[in-house]
This record gives sequence, C-alpha cells and structure tokens, in this order.
Amino acid sequence: MENYDEIPKYRKKKSSKSKSANKSDHKHQYKDCLLVDEENRPHKAQYCKICGKINNIIFFETERVDERFRRMLTDNEVLQKYKDLEQFQVKSMWDKYVTINK
Ligand SMILES: [Zn+2]
Repeated sequence: MENYDEIPKYRKKKSSKSKSANKSDHKHQYKDCLLVDEENRPHKAQYCKICGKINNIIFFETERVDERFRRMLTDNEVLQKYKDLEQFQVKSMWDKYVTINK
C-alpha cells in the first residue's frame, strides 16, 4: 500500500498576513524579564509567559549622558536597574526561548 497523502505542502514562506501561523496557537504575552547568559551578562528582554519565547532583547543598554552623548551601562548597572524583574539563565543571548518553571 502506498500512501502519498503526506507529501509535505510548503506554503508561501512569508505571507504578510499569517504571522500567527508559525507553530504557536496562542497570542504571545510578553512580560519584561532579565536574561543572564553564560558569561553572567545581563540583558533586558521580554519573554512570553506561555511558551517562553524571547522578544525585544536589548543588547546594549545605554543611558543619555548629555545632549550629545550616550554611554553604555556596565553589567552591574544593568543588573541593578532591572533587579526587580524575573531573571532567566540562558546559554547566550541568541537563545530563542527561556525555560519557564511552573
Ligand atoms: Zn508564546
């Protein structure tokens, strides 16, 4: 018996409409958090409360010093700034998901 029913169908890769069509059956609910990578560098980001998807990572946190200059915050300053946020350990800031403990 041969069954060709399961030939994969490739839909258009980037249709403008169907953002929600990629895997997730929910609307992501992003919440602020702090990611800490293996080198202990903190990054402000957001994660989805439901699936753990990471969003909006801030790679370099800066602060306006005066009208012309901004400076980068040190890791410590970032930690202090976001110390009230939930923290997640990630391998690197390229991770796509955090592990949600329930
Ligand atoms: Zn989600």
